[in-house]
Amino acid sequence: AKRQGQGQRVIFTQQLVQDMRHHARLLRDLKQDLDSEGLFLEYQPQIDLRTGKLLGVEALVRWQQRNGQRVPPDQFIGLAEQSGLIIRLGDWVLRQALKDLQSLLQRVPGIRMAVNVSAVQFNQQDFEQKVEHCLLQQGLQGSYLDLEITESVGILGSDAVETKFHKLKDLGITLSIDDFGTGFSSLSYLERLSADRLKIDRSFVAKLDASASGQRIAQMIIGLGQRLNLQVLAEGIETESQLEQLKVMGCHEGQGYLIARPMCLNELEGWIDAWRQ
Ligand code: C2E
Ligand code: CA
Ligand code: CA
Ligand code: CA
Repeated sequence: AKRQGQGQRVIFTQQLVQDMRHHARLLRDLKQDLDSEGLFLEYQPQIDLRTGKLLGVEALVRWQQRNGQRVPPDQFIGLAEQSGLIIRLGDWVLRQALKDLQSLLQRVPGIRMAVNVSAVQFNQQDFEQKVEHCLLQQGLQGSYLDLEITESVGILGSDAVETKFHKLKDLGITLSIDDFGTGFSSLSYLERLSADRLKIDRSFVAKLDASASGQRIAQMIIGLGQRLNLQVLAEGIETESQLEQLKVMGCHEGQGYLIARPMCLNELEGWIDAWRQ
């Protein structure tokens, strides 16, 4: 048994070294591709569930390596955060998203752009100045921009974060708490932060079809939103049944494969024209 244990340890260590090499290589390639065509954005529509009206889109970063292979964001965002590269990446995402928003606004007046912001980015001292600068550069009002911040980062609730939220809100920007219900934070911060929207994590939407407990959590978040006067957006809607249940529960906004997959700007523009007819 002891020998077997040692064998497992060797395999474990080999795996660890392999992973580290793989990560180092990914990070090096990402750094190189940051200034190239390898990185681009896709946009997923967010709609009013009652009227079907297009409210906004969420920008999702995509990375296609030089060998043609796509690396999903879940595999490189974390690495980028650990290495600090997320700052440059995040700056790029924001700039590109606002450029594209500029052109989307010609087609859909009032459409908003939701951009994911990681804790590392958000915690930069000059984050709000950066955002303001990007908006000015595109000649855009802050009210067209929505920043999605995850609850799980553990930064929500401090005074510094609260101050930052208010500064961003002074620019007219709205703030959404992403993946709501999966983190560990207390509810009291929600009131202090004056966020605008809760995004029900897609794990709860997925459970709508399966179990009563899934329903209860979605219902609870929607009720919380109503009491605190926050918008509630359900993400990851994949079936008609999920959509129906969310509507009945009083959830007003949604996104998911059932409505549309994330698309590049060109595809999105085509989708918008078809959706409107
Ligand atoms: P997220 O912010 O929770 O984004 C939602 C994810 O769910 C996206 O995955 C989206 O493609 C996927 N999705 C949307 N509708 C459905 C559906 O109906 N069913 C299923 N199964 N999935 C759906 P994606 O694009 O792979 O992004 C994964 C995560 O990577 C994001 O989760 C976000 O945390 C992060 N991410 C993506 N782009 C950025 C970015 O520009 N900056 C930062 N900081 N993080 C990003
Ligand atoms: Ca998001
Ligand atoms: Ca989410
Ligand atoms: Ca997520």
